[in-house]
Amino acid sequence: MKNALILLAGGVGERLTTKDPKQFLKIRSTNLIEYFLSNLDSRLFDIIIIATKPIFRKKYLSSLKKKFNQHNIKFSISGNTRQISSKKSVNFLKKYNPENVLIHDSARPLADNHLIKRIINCLNKHDSCIPFVLYNDFIKSKKNEMLNPKNIINIQTPQGFNFKKIYKAHKYATNINAKDDSSVFELQNQKLKMIRGDIINIKITTKNDLEYFNRLKLKEFRSGIGYDVHALNFNSNKKLTLCGVKILHPPLVGHSDADVGYHAVCDSILGSLSMKDIGFHFNNKNKKWKNSDSKIFIKFCAKTLTLAGFKIVNLDINFICETPNISKLRNLMKKNLSTLLNISIKNISIKATTNEKIGFIGRGEAIAAESIVQIANE
Ligand code: ZN
Repeated sequence: MKNALILLAGGVGERLTTKDPKQFLKIRSTNLIEYFLSNLDSRLFDIIIIATKPIFRKKYLSSLKKKFNQHNIKFSISGNTRQISSKKSVNFLKKYNPENVLIHDSARPLADNHLIKRIINCLNKHDSCIPFVLYNDFIKSKKNEMLNPKNIINIQTPQGFNFKKIYKAHKYATNINAKDDSSVFELQNQKLKMIRGDIINIKITTKNDLEYFNRLKLKEFRSGIGYDVHALNFNSNKKLTLCGVKILHPPLVGHSDADVGYHAVCDSILGSLSMKDIGFHFNNKNKKWKNSDSKIFIKFCAKTLTLAGFKIVNLDINFICETPNISKLRNLMKKNLSTLLNISIKNISIKATTNEKIGFIGRGEAIAAESIVQIANE
């Protein structure tokens, strides 16, 4: 086995006085561990050991292996101190006999593949590889002593080691409460190879750090696609409704008001949230939705989006029909969507094309609409 990763996740996080330990704190749809794993290149490690308390594993990590099945995840039991947790994990890892191990604090979710690859590469030449960053700020002690920033470094994780050597270092390091593995390694007179870390790879310790993490990295973009088609009814006296705009034109047939534009938009929004389709939420067998104004469905999608913490970045709708002339309705449609979805008109695009007289749409028997939406978390 070439490379292993130990992820230390046993801490209770006294400085962040939240109900859940910081590594399991729900941040929108993720937490620090899940965020880290979801961005981690699965080709980098043959095995990942998560060191945590059995109670945490049961409460927070029961679905983790299934969720991240691209990684080979195993669990080890953490200890009362960081050093003991690390030592126990290294012992646990012995039977897998990796060549290298990287030991990482789960409170540093922003360590990226680029940094990890540099550490792994560095271990081809050295027995250890410890990332650090320099302070760029003006630094002085509380006693007002001037300190030279060049003499102060900020040690990060993941820290990489030759497995056999860190195993041995942990074996003989007793009666110390080392804050990191590089200290354990150094105590055994082993040489530390220091490399430049990544300033973004901060340790989440306080509420401010969490806020920073939120602002920095959790911008998540998603997109969704929707398509709908309804037949026109030439024997009806009703009006046609497209994106809430009523016009004198044979109407579309459907269980609700058959607003093909709104339906396509709904499906694209639901798709972006992986929430099935409009038929799932508003079954067309249900009498409750008979002749409904499709505004209700759009409102539902807008509310669902807000609850999921997302906002629409842009929406592009395409009508496929021979008639009516969509360009005349465009501004009114945009206005309706802008109000219902609470987004700016400039982020909505409405286009149309004919079907070149081909097929049922080309013969003017139906109108189709497709919609693509991009959403981002707020
Ligand atoms: Zn429909």
